[in-house]
Amino acid sequence: LRQQLHPELPPRDALVSSDAGLIRIKLENELRAGLGAGEMQIYLQPIADIYTRKIAGFEALVRWQHPEKGLVRPDLFIQLAEDSGLMVPLGRWIVHEACRIAQLLEQQSNKAGVAHSGAFISINVSTMQFRDPEFFDHLSLALSETGINPQRVKLEITESALTDGEAAKRWIKQCKALGVRVALDDFGTGYSSLSYLHEFDIDTLKIDQSFIRKMMTDQRSRHIVEAIIALSKKLSLEIIAEGIETQEAIDVLQALECQYIQGYIIAKPAPLSAYL
Ligand code: C2E
Ligand code: MG
Ligand code: MG
Ligand code: MG
Repeated sequence: LRQQLHPELPPRDALVSSDAGLIRIKLENELRAGLGAGEMQIYLQPIADIYTRKIAGFEALVRWQHPEKGLVRPDLFIQLAEDSGLMVPLGRWIVHEACRIAQLLEQQSNKAGVAHSGAFISINVSTMQFRDPEFFDHLSLALSETGINPQRVKLEITESALTDGEAAKRWIKQCKALGVRVALDDFGTGYSSLSYLHEFDIDTLKIDQSFIRKMMTDQRSRHIVEAIIALSKKLSLEIIAEGIETQEAIDVLQALECQYIQGYIIAKPAPLSAYL
């Protein structure tokens, strides 16, 4: 019966003995070992004011410095971490590391004498981290250990986290109690519901890069982006457009009065050393 329901899923034994299953288990073991060996690293990508280009904050993006494979991007291991239970310890490490980085950015100005003391740090929170009952214990600890202002920490969740409305409300309430801010990531890709925006106490909206790309050629998409920006203004939400690669995109977003941008045209994700 199970086979009929999910014909694409081989039984567990077949999965384990297949090459794909073995590769997966090997990678999972490597990830577990890598986590223990300190092979994970946080890269930073700036989020800048569209008019002044001044850096308002940084998104923390995890990388895996694999001994043989080199730098592994998160799309290749986040899902694996989610499925294998490793995302919870990895996520806790990311929270501590991101706060430590925020503290360093506050204390030191870079070679050019530019300090990023007021900049926020944005931390991605995946489904398993969202469900981690100790998530806020770790965040509180990281905040008290580093002494950074909780207002400077932003947690990025996606719309999928909001489908269980009651759990989401409790979670966001805990953020507010701690004083950290909440961003809705990849907006426009999920089952975007505008009702989310007034139902949940969200501070920032991040328009997904696929939407931004579509907007450049499709007039209707541009109208939708325009409406999202206008609405977020009315609701006093901060708005960030993701994946900005061209001056053309900046011009369009400026005309639509989008406040903040993130993308390769400003800077690619880079290690902390690029900003100290
Ligand atoms: P995201 O949170 O939406 O992050 C933005 C992604 O877009 C990043 O990919 C970033 O490098 C990429 N990006 C930024 N600007 C541009 C641009 O102009 N052009 C293009 N083509 N791409 C751009 P990255 O670092 O590979 O991360 C992919 C996804 O993996 C993230 O999407 C996020 O969902 C997840 N992720 C990354 N780091 C973490 C983390 O620390 N924790 C968790 N839970 N998830 C993470
Ligand atoms: Mg994000
Ligand atoms: Mg995003
Ligand atoms: Mg994404």
